[in-house]
Amino acid sequence: MTQFSDLNLDAKILKAIVEAGYTTPTPIQEGAIPAALQGRDVLGIAQTGTGKTAGFVLPMIHALARGRAKARMPRSLVLCPTRELAAQVAENFDTYSKYVKLTKALLIGGVSFKEQDLLIDKGVDVLIATPGRLLDHQERGKLILNDVKIMVVDEADRMLDMGFIPDIERIFGLVPFTRQTLFFSATMAPEIERITNTFLSNPVKIEVARQATASETIEQGVVMFQPTRKDRQASEKRNILRTMIDNEGDKCTNAIIFCNRKTDVDIVSKSLKKDGYDAAPIHGDLDQSQRTRTLDLFREGKLRFLVASDVAARGLDVPSVSHVFNFDVSSHAEDYVHRIGRTGRAGRDGKAMMICVPSDEKNLEDIERLLGKPIPRLDNPLGKTAAAPAAVAATPAPTDATGEDAAPRPERRTRSRTRKPATDKTDVKPEAKPEARSEIARAEPVRETAPAPTPALAPAPVTARTSAPEASENTDRKRQPAHDKGERRQSSDRGRSSRHNDNGDKGVVVGLGDHLPGFIAMSFDERRAE
Ligand code: AMP
Repeated sequence: MTQFSDLNLDAKILKAIVEAGYTTPTPIQEGAIPAALQGRDVLGIAQTGTGKTAGFVLPMIHALARGRAKARMPRSLVLCPTRELAAQVAENFDTYSKYVKLTKALLIGGVSFKEQDLLIDKGVDVLIATPGRLLDHQERGKLILNDVKIMVVDEADRMLDMGFIPDIERIFGLVPFTRQTLFFSATMAPEIERITNTFLSNPVKIEVARQATASETIEQGVVMFQPTRKDRQASEKRNILRTMIDNEGDKCTNAIIFCNRKTDVDIVSKSLKKDGYDAAPIHGDLDQSQRTRTLDLFREGKLRFLVASDVAARGLDVPSVSHVFNFDVSSHAEDYVHRIGRTGRAGRDGKAMMICVPSDEKNLEDIERLLGKPIPRLDNPLGKTAAAPAAVAATPAPTDATGEDAAPRPERRTRSRTRKPATDKTDVKPEAKPEARSEIARAEPVRETAPAPTPALAPAPVTARTSAPEASENTDRKRQPAHDKGERRQSSDRGRSSRHNDNGDKGVVVGLGDHLPGFIAMSFDERRAE
């Protein structure tokens, strides 16, 4: 078996590796390190958790150990899709370059330009950056990329999802043609393939097993849940989540709870907190210092529940997470694999549970196809009270804004978008594609800032209420974002005008001013009689 000592790394690096507690290189390291040390381009097809970061950081430290950086001219460049990943890569550099004198700078959004300029001015060996911030510095003339000898693109597929590929192409055009490129991606989408064919020169290709096949230590399960009413779906899901957590008891030492939208990350986090759970949110709209603080607390075991969006949690390395709860089914199958990969790390056991509503069933099928096996169905922890199809069947179907039946039912993504309530679009939308040069804070909102579900007009049947206790329903309402309140107001207005029609009440018609055409105020019967 290959040992680190077989890889021809500098003795000072080996010393740091031993201190980090590593004995043998992982497959991606075994493949990438010798090739990178020979100066070859590397194409690593590997996901987070495979040790890929050390796969590029170790040979970089080795190569950069000799030589000095000139002012404003970094000698190497690592591009990461998110601030958290960039910060994680920077930590890796600190760990492995303990005995080698190297300077580095982290260029990420949410940190003042001034501080970053100062570091760059002094000259850095390693520049770790998110693409948008890097280009901002370069455009301001504060950064010259002519001396970059090694360029790393990490998590290229996530860059693609976030719309960063044009930025990456631009950056490739700014670094010298003779640089060495180390390129990592979990998957090889056609666009990624095009980039590697264009910018990598005869790379050594290393592919390691997909995480989907490596997560055997993770116990998975999904609760198939049919809400009593569509507008109660979110609060009923929160009830299920709380009960799932409670049922796990002490076995759940800590957990990451994933939501598809940023608004839901906030709502779920607040709702858990209010109910006494130690929870905090992390997503791209929160300011960087808060994100860092929250992550640190979670890593240190001082925060039990991290409620997260995919982008913010992507690639996060927290060694011991006992549970992952998928509040929503991820709309990309690969994201599910990443999500559950936050638990069961380093051979530990982990548990991943998910809530699936009818409109998510297509996404669930995609995930099961990727995994190559079904995810075991779990009983609804609330029993019949929260998922009562019989009660739903007995309920008159409420109508949504489009005048369409809004009662819960299995929805397919193939259903016409024009027939869907606006919010449902967000359920199926791929990861946001923000404008080029945007950072994570701008990268998620398309999917995550969508309005809340359109409220149904029909009054809630008493049977349905039993599933979502009134107290928690009310408190949830209080915490709804402003646009929810707007929707609710709209709904009650609609209710008023429909009552008007039903009763033939000619008292008040709202919103038409003084010039009300007479026929509008008549009941349908009266109009027909005319
Ligand atoms: P990464 O895929 O780079 O995010 O790494 C995942 C985790 O594996 C990190 O916690 C690393 O510290 C750890 N790791 C990296 N290389 C090794 C190794 N050779 N042996 C044991 N753990 C490692």
